[in-house]
Amino acid sequence: MIRIYQAQNIIDAQLVLDELRAGGLDAFIKGQHLVGGVGELPPGGVISVWISVEQHEQRARDIIEDFEAGQRTEQPARYCGSCGEFIEGNFGRCWNCSAVLN
Ligand SMILES: [Zn+2]
Repeated sequence: MIRIYQAQNIIDAQLVLDELRAGGLDAFIKGQHLVGGVGELPPGGVISVWISVEQHEQRARDIIEDFEAGQRTEQPARYCGSCGEFIEGNFGRCWNCSAVLN
């Protein structure tokens, strides 16, 4: 197992986890149980995302890089080139078929 991503919060961690799983990687979150109750800010550096297969590290990093780039860039809503689903802006990947959007 290797830690692939240091999350700011549980939502951040969950988004990255979803991206990695959509990419076919076996990923999981560590540290979420250390976070306090609802409304409480989790301490920084506690929540992280891990992958179980070390050989997938490069692929995982590529996925996270795409994810972070998508977070930064304002993108227009568009249709998935693979399945034709309508996708809101700021998604780097089709929620329906997981195709990477251009
Ligand atoms: Zn699609």
